[in-house]
Amino acid sequence: MRILLAEDDPDLSRQLKASLLDAGYVVDHAPDGEEAHYLGANEPYDAVILDLGLPKMDGVSVLERWRREGRAMPVLILTARGAWSEKVSGFDAGADDYLTKPFHTEELLARLRALLRRTAGHAAAVLTSGALRLDPRAARASVDGEPLRLTSLEYRLLHYLMMHQARVISRTELTEHLYDQDFDRDSNTVEVFIGRLRKKIGPDRIETLRGLGYRLTPLEGERA
Ligand code: CA
Repeated sequence: MRILLAEDDPDLSRQLKASLLDAGYVVDHAPDGEEAHYLGANEPYDAVILDLGLPKMDGVSVLERWRREGRAMPVLILTARGAWSEKVSGFDAGADDYLTKPFHTEELLARLRALLRRTAGHAAAVLTSGALRLDPRAARASVDGEPLRLTSLEYRLLHYLMMHQARVISRTELTEHLYDQDFDRDSNTVEVFIGRLRKKIGPDRIETLRGLGYRLTPLEGERA
């Protein structure tokens, strides 16, 4: 899951980015509103954390522009304490959730997980597919109750596949959601990671649909 963090406070940005990476997300950081707008308009983020008080372009204007341009990714806004009218303008501009500063990182991570799973149409906190289980709260996955030892990239890959298990996901889409903007992306490497993941979760659990992409193999009764 790839997250855009738009925040101008350097200390807070550093700390949040580290926590998000620890939690298994890929993170791009924008220190001002113009860069935030540019990245959000051009890169496919699974969610955005948007500080409203940003230099160059304020957060509400950034959000309004995205929504006008048809960008629909979920956005969690960060507002200053006591500024209730900021929350109202934020929601009116198209925000999905908010947090008031100062906040606990744990709460931000919990709200982000909820936002991501609602957006993907999941009600439960733990994702399951047959014997596969993935818990984003602990960034852990298991098969038949046996914990899987996954690298961070394998975890991100499995998380994305399980989050979107009803559909076929192209290599390009996977590449865009597994790496940050600075990574030299080569969609062929996705195939390598799919191969490694298959060795760990079972060879039949991921289908390759030639020319289209991958999906978690539907279970009995799930096939359309
Ligand atoms: Ca700020």
